[in-house]
Amino acid sequence: MSELFDTDNSHLPLPFTGETLYSWCARFHRINGNTSARLTSRQLFDDSTAGLRHDFPTQLNVFLGRTNQLLGSADELIYQRTVFGIFSPFLATSAIRSIAENMNEGGDVHIKHHLGVLPSRAGSAAPLKACPSCMRSETNSLGTPWWHIEHQWPTNRVCQTHGDYLLLPPQAFHSRVLKEWFLPADVQWQADAIPNEQVLIKLHKLNEWSCYLVTRSQNPFDSDLLRLTYHIRAKAMGWTTMDGSLKFSQIRAAFRESYSCLEELRGFEFIGETRQDHGGFLGSLLRQFDGNRHPLKHALMMDFLFGEPMHFNSEYQRILSISIWLDRKDLWAELTEERNQLKLMVAELGYSVNAAANQLGLPVGQAVRYLKMEGVEYKRRPRVLNPEKESALRQLLGSGEDRELIAATLGIRKTFIKDYLAQDSILRDAWKKANLAKQTEKYRQHLVQLLSEHPNDSIKQLKQIPGNGIQWLARNDRQWLENTLPSLWRDSSSTPDTTC
Ligand SMILES: [Zn+2]
Repeated sequence: MSELFDTDNSHLPLPFTGETLYSWCARFHRINGNTSARLTSRQLFDDSTAGLRHDFPTQLNVFLGRTNQLLGSADELIYQRTVFGIFSPFLATSAIRSIAENMNEGGDVHIKHHLGVLPSRAGSAAPLKACPSCMRSETNSLGTPWWHIEHQWPTNRVCQTHGDYLLLPPQAFHSRVLKEWFLPADVQWQADAIPNEQVLIKLHKLNEWSCYLVTRSQNPFDSDLLRLTYHIRAKAMGWTTMDGSLKFSQIRAAFRESYSCLEELRGFEFIGETRQDHGGFLGSLLRQFDGNRHPLKHALMMDFLFGEPMHFNSEYQRILSISIWLDRKDLWAELTEERNQLKLMVAELGYSVNAAANQLGLPVGQAVRYLKMEGVEYKRRPRVLNPEKESALRQLLGSGEDRELIAATLGIRKTFIKDYLAQDSILRDAWKKANLAKQTEKYRQHLVQLLSEHPNDSIKQLKQIPGNGIQWLARNDRQWLENTLPSLWRDSSSTPDTTC
């Protein structure tokens, strides 16, 4: 049979980008006018059910040979044309190896056994799903819709392209081994109500996490470091006690506030467990070393703690880079204790004290005090302002405002303004000039008011009034003072009596 395939590929449909292996086989079955589903599976996989396992097909080595790798290499089949690519980031290396072997050679893949939870139902971990708009557009352009890999990821419930809420099949389609080569148009879809806007926003966010997670398909997370990443973030959010243990009731409450809206959806019922004291999946992901490995649960945890995939990724990478030179026990001790972590970042990893304090959510002053106490050498990063603030600062300096006032107005330190002026001599001179003019005007007005309030006082008496400013004016605005208070120079034209 393989010889036939080797010499002529014309009866093999071209695979679509993002099409699942099962989908391609279903189209092959149609195009070749086959009537027996099991026969088609034998034809392609040398096994009557290997290809009908829509989530984790097996005997891929046979398939690769018989199709001349038309759909790509073994890895491309496994990671890009089956749902394995969204599960693998969370699996142990040994599990990945064993599953890939089973998919290549034969042997059943019980993914749920590797997910660290008791399978609640015997069905597929990724029941088939489809987008109504994709189905319509493919029916119009191709005659029949096909199965998209993205729609099958358990983390995706809306179409990336159209935003439609994905259709879910009736229970019979949740089987791991299907009896026929179904295409989306063959399924009696269950009409679930379209979720409200709040839920849809959350589901779209999960799609973003899916896209990130599949970039890790062949570079799985270290489950221990993943848990540490969650733990440190929970700590940064203020959800730990002084001794570093998690304030679990707060975590549950915060999670439920944002995500309980999802628990009515089919497939998201597990969120209801977070009502319990043990915290359901939140508890298992944060507490157990080898906890739950389901991608949907991790995606929810990541979204809850980090909000953005890039934010999560940089924190995970940071912890990964530290883990290379510390054993795990030390790593946990170092990273879950804030002071240790600060010291580590500044002394060993070359962070500036500002950057380290910022990342740990510590006030810079407190961080500096601690580092001094510990005798840790540190450098301060030159502080920078955002462009709006900097432009406001330059404007205020140009108009000669007092530094105290500018500092209070912009919420920055006076020392920062001093440093800023030191770096820009033109601005500094302009500020000095304008500031002197402003002060002069202030002192003049003050003295004029003083004179009107004390018309009969002698110079000596005026100079005894606190804050009279005469001495300042004598130094900085002598000509005006001479004109205003000629009596000050009555005895000497060159040396005013400015002693108080
Ligand atoms: Zn669509």
